[in-house]
Amino acid sequence: ATAGPAGGDSEALATLHRVFGYDAFRGQQEAIIEHVVTGGDAVVLMPTGGGKSLCYQIPALVRPGTGIVVSPLIALMQDQVDALRALGVQAGFINSTQDFDERRVVEAQFLAGELDLLYLAPERLRLEGTLDLLSRGKISVFAIDEAHCVSQWGHDFRPDYLALSLLGERWPDVPRIALTATATRATHREITERLAMPQARHFEASFDRPNIQYRIVPKADPKKQLLSFLREEHEGDAGIVYCLSRNSVEKTAEFLTRNGIEAVPYHAGLDAGTRAAHQARFLREEGLVVVATIAFGMGIDKPDVRFVAHLDLPKSVEGYYQETGRAGRDGLPSTAWMAYGLQDVVQQRKMIQTGEGDETFRRRAAAHLDAMLALCETARCRRAQLLAYFGQEPGTGTCGNCDTCLTPPETWDGTVAAQKLLSTIVRLKRERGQKFGAGQIVDILLGRRTAKVIQFDHDQLSVFGIGEDLSEAEWRGVARQLLAQGLLAVEGEYGTLVLTEASGSVLRREREVPLRKEQVKRAAAAKASSG
Ligand code: ADP
Ligand code: ZN
Repeated sequence: ATAGPAGGDSEALATLHRVFGYDAFRGQQEAIIEHVVTGGDAVVLMPTGGGKSLCYQIPALVRPGTGIVVSPLIALMQDQVDALRALGVQAGFINSTQDFDERRVVEAQFLAGELDLLYLAPERLRLEGTLDLLSRGKISVFAIDEAHCVSQWGHDFRPDYLALSLLGERWPDVPRIALTATATRATHREITERLAMPQARHFEASFDRPNIQYRIVPKADPKKQLLSFLREEHEGDAGIVYCLSRNSVEKTAEFLTRNGIEAVPYHAGLDAGTRAAHQARFLREEGLVVVATIAFGMGIDKPDVRFVAHLDLPKSVEGYYQETGRAGRDGLPSTAWMAYGLQDVVQQRKMIQTGEGDETFRRRAAAHLDAMLALCETARCRRAQLLAYFGQEPGTGTCGNCDTCLTPPETWDGTVAAQKLLSTIVRLKRERGQKFGAGQIVDILLGRRTAKVIQFDHDQLSVFGIGEDLSEAEWRGVARQLLAQGLLAVEGEYGTLVLTEASGSVLRREREVPLRKEQVKRAAAAKASSG
């Protein structure tokens, strides 16, 4: 921010060498930086780890004035600022963690033109005081990080981001750069509209992470499955295991530790000191596993994360991509592994139905879940499916580095099985007026005289025991796939299985139901034979 008039890319390159110590720009960095340095607006879509920070940090250093960085990640501001200061960059932040005096110091530095970069939380910009402060200093560039937070369709929506459209009105001569790692085509458009950046040039990097191997397996005994995955493929590697609840985070971390794998928990229920200590250990040590809720990971920059494992289904493809994207930033082979089962689908549908939010919110959440399920159940290349979601195409037809490419899934004609399962639900409804979840339906199909089966006389039903040709795991797989295909639905807080409009066509034999063959049996058999 001390340099003269907006220079060309040579000054940007000199800054890259001198300040950051890097030899060359990566990907589209150079084009983006040149565009912003010369005063242009930009919307940048670049995957996590792609190098977005330099795209605004260098313009902030090259152009006169202070670069204002709007970021929702308050917890990371201190780290970011410390890292910049270590490079000799004059950086500061203003957020709610500071007391009055600390804030005053930073404000004074800004007004004196001593700051190259100033980080602000979005809610700050709703305060007239902040806007007033900004208008009394000199601003080189506005960077809007995590710009997808402006999208009401996205899973990270932050109402404070909507107020950012006024930046262009108040500072028409200051270039703006909006950055995100998470945007479908629709979100991209929404960013442009809501941030009022119609003139912005769009830069879009490929989302493909060729060194990440994507694998999604049917969930049987998730902790054990995880343990064999780690022992067989990632002994001594650093990695992240994501779980949905704090409780399962704790239990899984304990389980791994008990089985000789060093693991620490991370979730919002732990005190700040413990969280910080675990995060620091993860960054510092070579082979630590962090078991975490999605509270962990935003902005974590560890290049040698060798695997990311999901024990529960993420709520959206964006979330899945962002979380798995923390693996293999160094470009070396890494694995994104997930175990997913019927209960995940039931639970998430239930959460959407009974959770907070209006009808629109629910519809969107359901659409996100459907896209995630489509990725789980696809018989085509996972990478192709993932990239297609972001509106991109893979370089080649098949990637050769995902489970469906490596072991193309076999399908089988599940029409009869689907009819058996659906007609069991019909019987239950007709004869009892009661509603039951997947467990009861599977018990009936398998002809099990459990207490609950006997209590409701379900052993008297004509469908009792008609499904003995399949195992319990297979029946759960059938139910899960029917749910994913919309041939079955979940209702109410107990996860009752109910028919959909489309179910009728299966019962009337008007359509066939191809299903993926489950890997559970094969995996179990392989294990048994290997001792
Ligand atoms: P993002 O914000 O897109 O997730 P970062 O800006 O944090 O990514 O950059 C990811 C990592 O890549 C950081 O360690 C950063 O220092 C490094 N990096 C970025 N650009 C370059 C470059 N041109 N040369 C070398 N390393 C780079
Ligand atoms: Zn593939």
